[in-house]
Amino acid sequence: MKKQIILDVACPVCQKSLMNEEVKINGLPSVELNIRSEENKKGTVYLCAAYECFEHQKDMAVEQGEIVGFCCPSCHSELLTRETCRICDAPMVNLGLKSGGFVKICSRFGCFNHYLSMSDLEAEYHRSHVQ
Ligand SMILES: [Zn+2]
Ligand SMILES: [Zn+2]
Repeated sequence: MKKQIILDVACPVCQKSLMNEEVKINGLPSVELNIRSEENKKGTVYLCAAYECFEHQKDMAVEQGEIVGFCCPSCHSELLTRETCRICDAPMVNLGLKSGGFVKICSRFGCFNHYLSMSDLEAEYHRSHVQ
C-alpha cells in the first residue's frame, strides 16, 4: 500500500499557513485558498490535505476545464507561476511546504495534474509512480 502524504502548506510569499483547522475534509485540516474564475467571480476553495486526494469544497461554481486564479487568503498574492502544465498548458499554482519543498497543482479545474517536490520524500514518490 502506498504511504499517504499529508501536506502542510504555507503561502510561498508571506509564509503564512494555508491550513484551515475548522474546515475538515476526510478528518484533516483543509488547505484554504482564494479562487477567482475566468468571469472574475471570487470564492474560497478548501482542498483535502492528503496528497493525491482531490476532494475539495468550494463556495462557487467552476466549469470543468476553466482556468482558476489561486490567491493566498492572507496576503492575496497570486500563486500562479509561469510554469505551465505539461498536460493542458494552464499555469501551475505553487504552494510552499512547511517542511521545505513545494507542491504544484494545475490551475485548470478538472485537470488534476500536480506534483510534489520534497527533498526526503521525493525518491519514494518517484518510485511509487513508475508504471
Ligand atoms: Zn500569502
Ligand atoms: Zn493541467
